[in-house]
Amino acid sequence: MSQPIGNIYIVVAPSGAGKTSLVAALLQAEPSVELSVSYSTRPARKGEIDGKHYHFVDRAVFDAMVARGDFLEHAEVYGNCYGTSAPWIRSRLEVGQDILLEIDWQGAEQVRKVFPGAVGIFIAPPSIEELERRLRGRDTDTEDVILRRLASARAEIDKIAEYDYIVVNDDFERARQDLISIVRARRLRSEVQCRRLAEMFRYMGSAGAQ
Ligand code: GDP
Ligand code: ADP
Ligand code: 5GP
Repeated sequence: MSQPIGNIYIVVAPSGAGKTSLVAALLQAEPSVELSVSYSTRPARKGEIDGKHYHFVDRAVFDAMVARGDFLEHAEVYGNCYGTSAPWIRSRLEVGQDILLEIDWQGAEQVRKVFPGAVGIFIAPPSIEELERRLRGRDTDTEDVILRRLASARAEIDKIAEYDYIVVNDDFERARQDLISIVRARRLRSEVQCRRLAEMFRYMGSAGAQ
């Protein structure tokens, strides 16, 4: 794959930190960023729509996709399998589309090996106690699932320095603005602007003055 023009954003967070809510808010503010819809063997939660939140597949289908090399990355997370579609990513990058992956830390490591320029963003909860409150408040998971997710959270937070950006999701609006700022700042880099606005700068500079 040639070097993509669009940015790849990888958003990682301990379960319950607010990743899904914050990403939804970001995509609403920045509709030009497109979300990668993962494949998952996890059963759909109430309200989740196949093809929108995940492509829900059974283990046999997932394993066949792994064997065919259909995933850019895949990992087992809290007992279920999750994977990112390689053909989808390829098709979006080819047209210069900015894309966002909401994946776990294992997937993030795999993607950054393939795309070292991918932007890693970690969403941290303000505290473990608050994380537990949110997981319980969400009311989507059984007790043993909640305990498993809380245990993983500590290990994930230990790897926080590997990310380019860290957003603490204490006040939601503040965190939403932080996330939007990251995307906007990436687009303002001179490397990006020189390419996007090449003609305008040529005209304003010496070539335009003749
Ligand atoms: P929630 O994000 O805690 O609400 O729970 P989910 O069931 O939506 O996600 C479970 C875990 O799988 C999270 O750590 C996600 O980041 C991760 N995940 C989701 N999609 C992908 C993917 O395509 N690849 C990888 N590697 N992980 C993913
Ligand atoms: P994740 O995708 O990281 O598992 P969710 O987006 O599902 O997290 O958020 C977990 C729960 O916490 C949800 O019920 C959500 O409404 C709530 N939540 C998210 N951000 C905040 C915040 N800043 N303050 C209070 N509650 C929040
Ligand atoms: P949930 O089951 O709560 O939707 O997600 C649990 C975790 O799996 C989250 O941390 C989520 O980011 C991660 N996850 C979702 N999709 C993928 C994926 O395609 N690949 C990887 N590696 N993790 C994923």
